[in-house]
Amino acid sequence: VPELPEVETTRRSLAGRVVGRRIKGAIALPVRLRGGIVPADWLAHAVGATVLGLSRRGKYLLADLGRSTAVIHLGMSGRLAIVAAGAPCGPHTHLRLLLAGGDELRLVDPRRFGLAIVAERAVVAALPCLVELGVDALDGDVEPALVAAAARSRTPVRSLLLDQTVVAGIGNIYAAEALARAGIHPLRPASALARRRVRRLAAEVKNVLAEALAAGGTTLEDGGFADAAGNAGFFAVRLEVYGREGQPCTRCGASIRRQSAGGRSAFFCPRCQR
Ligand SMILES: [Zn+2]
Repeated sequence: VPELPEVETTRRSLAGRVVGRRIKGAIALPVRLRGGIVPADWLAHAVGATVLGLSRRGKYLLADLGRSTAVIHLGMSGRLAIVAAGAPCGPHTHLRLLLAGGDELRLVDPRRFGLAIVAERAVVAALPCLVELGVDALDGDVEPALVAAAARSRTPVRSLLLDQTVVAGIGNIYAAEALARAGIHPLRPASALARRRVRRLAAEVKNVLAEALAAGGTTLEDGGFADAAGNAGFFAVRLEVYGREGQPCTRCGASIRRQSAGGRSAFFCPRCQR
């Protein structure tokens, strides 16, 4: 599942390949992604436009097309790839942007939880999914946002971390890892945590994201995310708890536990995390 570091890795690796290039054609399939893809919108707003910049907010990628903006969310399984024009098209390729100079930017999303919208700049700026985003987990000031939200919320602290309106960009994996590093039990009510522990958690969010980003960057040098093996380096960060149910805690040796909460699994060490 692409989380902030994977989306940022995608952005950095794509920027040099697409910024400054004109989109000369679009082949969009009218599939039902989370937000739908409207082929007519891509023809009207993307074709003929030049990509002026590529930015990120939380897990959303935004391409500045001048009068219009394109928004892409990779959902559960989405991937953006740059391939040579006319290269064989794999299954689940929902969107192809043909770039002047001969490459194609393709959106592949087998599970279809992603989103690909293009519209006038002001329309995109007003999209609720963007307006409601909290501070960016990587670029934003996470500590005050998290301290303020925790103080007024009895929700489990893990749910608070996953709430994109508080801090944008954290998903299951990095929430689990930040909580493990901070020694905080994922299901602890947020308002019950001492302020210094919330501050520590904010610092660990920054640390784990920075490490994951560095790991993603390392992989890019061996050939880039755009090839078929592009996902290889994702989540190369050393995971302490996520997906390690029943395995020994790297700190104390106790068995890592998994507990379902809110339809998702929380992984934690019952001894180190309180
Ligand atoms: Zn432990």
